[in-house]
Amino acid sequence: VFQLSVPLNFLGSVYRELRQSLLDMETLFNLQKVELKVRDKPNAKPLLLSSGELKFENVTFGYRPDRPILKNLNLTIPAGKKIAIVGPSGCGKSTILRLLFRYYDVQEGRILIDGQDIRDVSLESLRKAIGVVPQDTPLFNDTIGHNIKYGNLEATDEQIVEAARRAHVHDTISNFPDGYNTMVGERGMMISGGEKQRLAVSRLILKDPPLLFFDEATSALDTHTEQALLSHINSILKEKKRTSVFVAHRLRTIYDSDMIIVLKAGSVAESGTHEQLIDRAGLYSELWSAQETLFAGADEKEVVEEEK
Ligand code: ATP
Repeated sequence: VFQLSVPLNFLGSVYRELRQSLLDMETLFNLQKVELKVRDKPNAKPLLLSSGELKFENVTFGYRPDRPILKNLNLTIPAGKKIAIVGPSGCGKSTILRLLFRYYDVQEGRILIDGQDIRDVSLESLRKAIGVVPQDTPLFNDTIGHNIKYGNLEATDEQIVEAARRAHVHDTISNFPDGYNTMVGERGMMISGGEKQRLAVSRLILKDPPLLFFDEATSALDTHTEQALLSHINSILKEKKRTSVFVAHRLRTIYDSDMIIVLKAGSVAESGTHEQLIDRAGLYSELWSAQETLFAGADEKEVVEEEK
């Protein structure tokens, strides 16, 4: 019995790892749509994380070589800081996250994590180090509880509930017909975009990775829930000194970042703190004014509707 249990345990852990990495990939990209080309080098070493600094050196990349999306991009994302990438639609913000996850390899230049070229490290160790809250979180045909547990397959029920509380989704789940045992996914209960996003944050809290990426992660939430969740995420990031990258359209969700990178046509147009970029009176400041005008309009409308 003893002899048998060793390989079985081993298989169990391989299975868990496999499920975990499949989940991570599926979460960030839609697997069916893209073929996998990136492979481990024969001598790939595990990624050794120290502080979590991310660096793009002269990176050029296009999904088709004749149509570069990022052009000679130089970028340093300092360790332990909250960074935002903003810019016009289609300028390559999400592409930066996909490249960091090494879903594609760059055509020129290199990407370094704590000084290691990500092409030299094993994909498994790279993807283990990264947690993502994507624009659209896939749900598995499983219970809500298990869907959160995919963040960390070793998690206890108490840890799952705690993660859901911290992601501001526990009360919602408690009101579902079978609570955490409610089936979701294609064959289960339909849940809203905002609930999905908070489930994705619960998964991330359970995974607790050193590097965290948020790709329009709170776009489906109402302003009030979004602010509450963001302030909670911020406090976790600060407390744990995690490196995080937020891709965002709505500047109100990221103006407090340690550094904001404004991307335009595949290169960095400007970067700095919110105050520095406003003083610069460039692209960011223009985007900010335009959005504030829109928000002011929306706020007024809300007041009028409330008064009715
Ligand atoms: P948005 O703000 O609209 O989400 P983005 O700045 O995040 O945009 P990306 O998703 O990085 O932009 O895409 C950059 C460009 O690359 C776009 O023109 C997009 O159409 C193109 N693109 C993205 N994914 C692929 C793909 N798998 N194959 C071919 N082209 C792609």
